[in-house]
Amino acid sequence: MDINQLWQTTLSELELQISRPNFLTWLKNSRPVEKNEEGKILIGLTNNFAKEWVENKYHKTILSIIRSLDETIKGVEYTVLTGAINEQAQKVRGAQREKTEQSHPSFPELKIDPETNLHPRYNLNSFVVGSSNELAYAAASAVIKDVGKKYNPFFIYGGVGLGKTHLIQGIGNEIKKVYKNKIKVKYVPSEKFVNEVIWAIRNKRMDDVKSRYRNIDVLIIDDIQFIGGKERSEEEFFHTFNALYENGKQIIISSDRPPAAIPTLEERLRSRFLGGMIADVSQPDYEMRVAIIKTKLQEKNNALSDDLCGLIANKVRKNIREIEGILNKIIFYRENKCVDLTPAIIGDIIDSAIQQSVKNISPSQVIKVVAEFFEITPSDLTIRSRKKEIVEPRQITMFLLRDILGLSYPHIGEKMGKRDHSTAIHSYEKISNEINKNRDLSQKIILIKELIYKQ
Ligand code: ADP
Ligand code: MG
Repeated sequence: MDINQLWQTTLSELELQISRPNFLTWLKNSRPVEKNEEGKILIGLTNNFAKEWVENKYHKTILSIIRSLDETIKGVEYTVLTGAINEQAQKVRGAQREKTEQSHPSFPELKIDPETNLHPRYNLNSFVVGSSNELAYAAASAVIKDVGKKYNPFFIYGGVGLGKTHLIQGIGNEIKKVYKNKIKVKYVPSEKFVNEVIWAIRNKRMDDVKSRYRNIDVLIIDDIQFIGGKERSEEEFFHTFNALYENGKQIIISSDRPPAAIPTLEERLRSRFLGGMIADVSQPDYEMRVAIIKTKLQEKNNALSDDLCGLIANKVRKNIREIEGILNKIIFYRENKCVDLTPAIIGDIIDSAIQQSVKNISPSQVIKVVAEFFEITPSDLTIRSRKKEIVEPRQITMFLLRDILGLSYPHIGEKMGKRDHSTAIHSYEKISNEINKNRDLSQKIILIKELIYKQ
């Protein structure tokens, strides 16, 4: 196999193992550069962020896939693509850079701690507390004071970009600081846990995984919803969980939804979670958004007038990550003196950032996200079924096609399995009416919308 084929095959396998947004952001435009005399392969990535990210998060997985395809490969190294090789990548770079900066703002001097996996930028001093997250924050403080005793497990849930990762990594960093490394902390995105289990099963090294996790004092698992439905990983996680829990070790978990709403999560895991402390983070109100904007500006050694901060807080409501992306953009414009930053211009910058996220969304993406959320297939959404597990997702899809994309009712009917336009109208009206009365439904819709915007 030549290195191009080898890398393409590796990518198709990787694509199955990591989430789609991660794959697109970090790996889509990668390519092999060379195989040197030592038998190492050099992989080119589009920018420094991608390089750091892939090295830290995916290296092991990549290496084990490549080795399983070609035993002669001795190692994998990464570089940033420049010049001619990068022509194609350059086109997507603009868009990608924005995305990267949003999810991983510029703190190049700070590195992920290999021991704990924690990123030092997530600390509790820079975490703004307000009504949308005060319960979660209070619980976090209690956990730090009484590690493993009071709130165990501590389960935190909420929509995308609302600070879950920041808070749980912040707890980890604080414990490290307060207890001066006497307490062993480990942060693991659940995707990574799943990958490790898959790798270990393949290579018959399950004992490695077991011993790696069982001597930890604080285990932090991010985005647990990804474990749901992956049997061996769930099984392994359950045993790890029990072993730690019974020894009084602290477990901290985040998820995009409450335990009861992860349909494929095994019952015994779910009931374990319900036995601990559960707190949610929701969307920040206006005052909190202003406070976050000011904190972020300060971190970047920057400032904007109160009026402008208010303007941004007014326009960007959904997601704190989005606020960060927009601030980066405004600072960029200012530093490069592209334009005079009047309120009107800032308004335009924000509108175009927000619109852009809508412009890139297609009806099939909406359908795909809804299906993923309810853990059914996109074609389940279009079949003629009256089962509750199908009817609700179908009505929500039709509602969102109208609400987000503004599709016409006949068009929606057509998309949803050649249904009559009156069905689309009925679904839209039913969900619009219910959304105000039913908190469960409105939570679901908020989460799904966030997943769609994150695509
Ligand atoms: P989630 O894990 O819930 O998707 P993140 O923790 O990744 O969200 O947060 C997204 C971005 O918003 C991060 O850059 C984070 O620092 C920032 N952020 C979120 N909540 C807060 C907060 N309360 N105070 C300060 N920054 C926050
Ligand atoms: Mg997160």
